[in-house]
Amino acid sequence: MRFVSTRGQAPVTGLGDAILRGLAPDGGLYVPQTFPRLDPRGMDPQASLPDVATWLLRPYFDGDPLADHLDAICHEALNFDVPLCALPWPGTRLLELFHGPTAAFKDVGARFLAACLRRLRKRDDPPLTILVATSGDTGAAVAAAFHRVPGIRVVVLYPDGRVSPRQAHQLGCFGDNVRAFRVDGSFDDCQRMVKSALVDAALQERVPLGSANSISLGRLLPQMSYYARAALRCHAGDGVAPGFIVPTGNLGNALACAWVREMGLPVGPIHLACNANRTLPDFLHGETYAPRASLATLANAMDVGAPSNIERLRWMADDSSLRERFSAHSVDDAAIRDTIATMAREHHMTVCPHTATALRALQRLRENGAQGPWVAVATAHAAKFDTVVEPLVGEPVPLPPSLQRLLQRPAHAEPLPASDAALRKVLCE
Ligand SMILES: *Cc1c(COP(=O)(O)O)cnc(C)c1O
Repeated sequence: MRFVSTRGQAPVTGLGDAILRGLAPDGGLYVPQTFPRLDPRGMDPQASLPDVATWLLRPYFDGDPLADHLDAICHEALNFDVPLCALPWPGTRLLELFHGPTAAFKDVGARFLAACLRRLRKRDDPPLTILVATSGDTGAAVAAAFHRVPGIRVVVLYPDGRVSPRQAHQLGCFGDNVRAFRVDGSFDDCQRMVKSALVDAALQERVPLGSANSISLGRLLPQMSYYARAALRCHAGDGVAPGFIVPTGNLGNALACAWVREMGLPVGPIHLACNANRTLPDFLHGETYAPRASLATLANAMDVGAPSNIERLRWMADDSSLRERFSAHSVDDAAIRDTIATMAREHHMTVCPHTATALRALQRLRENGAQGPWVAVATAHAAKFDTVVEPLVGEPVPLPPSLQRLLQRPAHAEPLPASDAALRKVLCE
């Protein structure tokens, strides 16, 4: 399989090169030249996640040096459970993506990217610095995935005081080849600093840099695997393609679901659950696409006003067909709070603020008469957002063991001014 840029001005390339580059040289995002079609009958619906991933991703790896390693990459990266659980309403399920080391779905993409990059590097390559700006979950997943990987160091930037206390602890607890910086500024400042370093050729001469942000194909492709497995299982059980409701920020997770549908697997309607950042709901309801500044909400990992994967979505189809194929709903903080409290009170389920947006959107769909089976996606463990969730459910949320281990380690983050020059200085130390 060859990959092209959404802007159409970059040479076609293979998967390994596209993963190493991150962004295409014309500033666009890499997409597959065509979507391979798979016959769902070719896969056992009860197969394990790594086996489904190997089957699903094989066509994208074909012809690339990484192809020989696909099976090993899938088994190394996807080594935790992704259960499909019952929800208390008929025909509805919850796909739990938060059983990885840092308790959010970002572990899937970060671990797969790390497994690819360690195989793409040659023995005498100079050390590579992975630079990542995070609003909370990405940085920890990337740090965990690359922790102690030889030849790679990680520099994480996060906005000081704007991530949850447990997220901050996670970011600072790795040490070794991981440095965490708390930036005196916003997430947008962190992202701007990272982008400016990544395009600085003179800096890259001295310090080779790599990116692990949500536009990386190495993160997007593996996210397809849990949708494929859930779709096959539901379809085998119900005989109907399930719809998916995906908590959405930068649109990487929902796009992975859409790509699985393009491949001919049984995925029904795709519904984007957004927080008060309404860019995507407004666009899909018919307004001209208009990126805006992000608003701070309780579902902070979805505080995105200019979703970075929008170019990939709009590359798939024209705006009016997108409006037929996708729907979206915006859930404000009051509704997030209410959903968390109601789920605990009536159903004894504790959910994180992001997952709450999906459950609220599910409720709306059902009130509006949407038929058929639905899968809501749970993107993080509630214990990561204890300061929001615990007051609403009225009791402590037990920590999953992986998170507990991280929180027991000492944590340290270095202060950094929100300037490009300050970042350059620490990178060159
Ligand atoms: C990153 C994240 C999201 C948003 O995912 P996108 O791929 O950016 O749309 C939702 N929930 C949680 C918990 C996240 O960490």
